Amino acid sequence: MPNVGSIEDAWRVFDSMPTHNVDSWTAMLQGFAIHGHGAETHGHFQWICEECIAVDAVSFLSLLSASSHAGLVDEGLLYFQSMGSVYGVSATPACTWIEVNNEVHSFVVDDQHHPQCNEIHAELKRLFRQMKDVGYVLDTKFVLHDVDKEEMVYRLSHSSEKQAIAFRLISTPSGTPLCIFKNLRVFGDCHTSMKLIAKIVGKKIIMRDANHFHHFANGHCPSRDYL
Ligand SMILES: [Zn+2]
Repeated sequence: MPNVGSIEDAWRVFDSMPTHNVDSWTAMLQGFAIHGHGAETHGHFQWICEECIAVDAVSFLSLLSASSHAGLVDEGLLYFQSMGSVYGVSATPACTWIEVNNEVHSFVVDDQHHPQCNEIHAELKRLFRQMKDVGYVLDTKFVLHDVDKEEMVYRLSHSSEKQAIAFRLISTPSGTPLCIFKNLRVFGDCHTSMKLIAKIVGKKIIMRDANHFHHFANGHCPSRDYL
């Protein structure tokens, strides 16, 4: 399929297959990435996303994270989020996904279910020590006032994206950049923390959240240093 002349040809081949699997979805998504993704193919792309998510949401995220086509990643994640409620892929609470060694791992706040949660929390402690050395102060101004202060600090320190990054760092220390997906918007303390972590570990962190792509590098994020 990669040799066909146009995205429409690729689609015809794809559409004529009796069943689809990770290989055919991959080929088709590559077709979109190579040949572009104009208005006329919009419906095809949506159809593939929906089919793929419905059958295998984990594969879909993994395919998407392998794509270098920002527009496709963007749109694919929107479908993923919008289909969350239909297929039980929870859209809330906050959840972060990261691909490590060809597997997609998901995290929620203070996640105790990951088999390596002890190591992840130890890595987070280490990161916080280094962050404090460069002036980090936990930013609690966006947290609801009726939440217990200690509980609030703990939850902020163990947010889904912080755990995902810590897991990635202990799993594959080499290799860049670090790509993560979050179903909600990243802001406040987590946005600040990602900038500092990128600086400390000397790697780029690319995060797609509900609204934007963030490119954290060397203590900055050009997405607008909002909040
Ligand atoms: Zn940003």
